[in-house]
Amino acid sequence: MSDCPAIDPPRLGEPYLLTPGPLTTSYAVKQAMLRDWGSWDGDFRAMTAEMRERLVAMLGDGHEAFTCVPMQGSGSFSVEAMLGSFVPRDGKALVLANGAYGQRAAQALAYIGRAFDALDKGDYLPPRGPEVAARLAADPAVTHVVAIHCETSSGILNPLAEIAEAVAAAGRTLLVDAMSAFGALPLPPAEVPYAALVSSANKCIEGVPGFGFVLARREAVVAAEGNAHSLCLDVHAQWAAMEATGQWRYTPPTHAVAAFLEALRAHAAEGGVAARGARYAENRDVLVAGMRALGFETLLADRWLSPIITTFFCPADPAFSFDAFYDGMKARGFIIYPGKLTVAESFRLGHIGQVDADVMRQAVAAVEATLRALGVTDPAPPAAALAERAKLGEAA
Ligand SMILES: *Cc1c(COP(=O)(O)O)cnc(C)c1O
Repeated sequence: MSDCPAIDPPRLGEPYLLTPGPLTTSYAVKQAMLRDWGSWDGDFRAMTAEMRERLVAMLGDGHEAFTCVPMQGSGSFSVEAMLGSFVPRDGKALVLANGAYGQRAAQALAYIGRAFDALDKGDYLPPRGPEVAARLAADPAVTHVVAIHCETSSGILNPLAEIAEAVAAAGRTLLVDAMSAFGALPLPPAEVPYAALVSSANKCIEGVPGFGFVLARREAVVAAEGNAHSLCLDVHAQWAAMEATGQWRYTPPTHAVAAFLEALRAHAAEGGVAARGARYAENRDVLVAGMRALGFETLLADRWLSPIITTFFCPADPAFSFDAFYDGMKARGFIIYPGKLTVAESFRLGHIGQVDADVMRQAVAAVEATLRALGVTDPAPPAAALAERAKLGEAA
């Protein structure tokens, strides 16, 4: 996008992080952390209030019914807080899983003692609206459905709109892990009905790690009183304290909040969710085209590729090893990410953070140079990987 402000590349000799968060942040975001704030002080309370308002507004159409509850910890703390606070003790959840984060949501429910069932599609097949409708029709005990917007373990963009429609038609409540999508992919509650979503500071808003946040219908938060299994991860209690005092209940991640506010302002200046999503989509398109031109294959067909992160099969060439490839990429200024598939060897390249199409072209050049250094002449994947991928075509 030529009308986007230029990204702010790392100035300290750091590599680019082609990872799904923590990711490459701007110098201004890092610089915002160079002072201390008192957690009780009015200045910090105003920062918390501005952050909550900006996040709710970012939801778009229908945001008026929502409130924002920040939560200390990594993103998974907020997922666990959402599940434990909104699924009542006598409720039952249906988890739509197609990767590590769906499985983690199910694991959290098991830990906190909530009844649940999973619709598990394996490594990367998308849960579809009709099968969700069928599961809900067959099990009237299910009160809540848990969906992952972008399943970061494969990079698949799950069809949230048709899932939300099926859940609403069945009169159940949808909870969304939008961790790696919020801020880059719109999810306006007026069009896609859900009760709550979670995301965190260090993904598409491009802040530093330290906290997550729940964006939930105010009425759902009010109704959640007394549900939580945990003192610290009680969304209602955190919200009630924040509404009453403007403060976080326990020590807030002050510096991470300051950095995040800077990131939120940059997000708005870039043009909000649409512009952020467009930059990431262009990053993906340039990266995927460059990698395919070298001979790599993506796990997913184009229709399921998210603008967040893309999974590539490892080359079958015996000269290739992931560890040597990783080191070669790092030496050339890029931190990459291992794959998470059970069937085929793979690796992932993220395209979120302070990176643009130019950085993607540099990354592809670094891949080419690394392959040459390793003596890999053909990046094509093994036949078994392509056979596995063909199953996606059948099932989707
Ligand atoms: C990053 C991420 C999380 C949270 O991971 P943490 O390591 O706890 O921050 C949860 N779900 C998805 C889909 C994610 O991408």
